[in-house]
Amino acid sequence: MNTKELIEIIINGNDKFVKNHNKEYFKDHFDKQNPNITLVTCSDSRVQPDVILPDSINKIFIIRNIGNQIPSNEGSVDYGIYHLKTPVLLILGHSDCGAIKAFLKGYNDEPDTIKHELDNLKPVILKEDELIENIRKNINFQVDIAIKKYKELIQNGELAVVGAYYDFKNDLQKDYGRLTVININGENNN
Ligand SMILES: [Zn+2]
Repeated sequence: MNTKELIEIIINGNDKFVKNHNKEYFKDHFDKQNPNITLVTCSDSRVQPDVILPDSINKIFIIRNIGNQIPSNEGSVDYGIYHLKTPVLLILGHSDCGAIKAFLKGYNDEPDTIKHELDNLKPVILKEDELIENIRKNINFQVDIAIKKYKELIQNGELAVVGAYYDFKNDLQKDYGRLTVININGENNN
């Protein structure tokens, strides 16, 4: 597909959206957003909020980067928790994560910008472990970071930090596309 065709897809896609949504739909969120979930997930195009909610507008505050990391975008995560006060922070990792694969393969040849983000994974990824195990470890690692950051909110029952694995390859044998919760507030349950 060439650039022109892709731009047409963007314009036409939005045109359909406009035709299916009137003023009534938007007016509740003209001046304020009101999400219930702060989602930290990977930028991977195979992972989209549709896997949780078909219409996520004004429902999910999303922070995305390679490897679903808090340290790469800490200010944005803080915004969701401290300002928007979402009661749930969902860390969503996924099957076949390219960030973890890059880390396992070695990433010295990458540009500094990419290296810098992958460096955040150093404390947790072990080259001896297989991909699925490292994906899980990264989810748990990000949950741990969040638990330390937002300890008081969690203790007061105002926030739950949930770590989950979006599994489009059926890595965990629970079906293709299944989201499996593996950690809630530091309690690991597969
Ligand atoms: Zn990924």
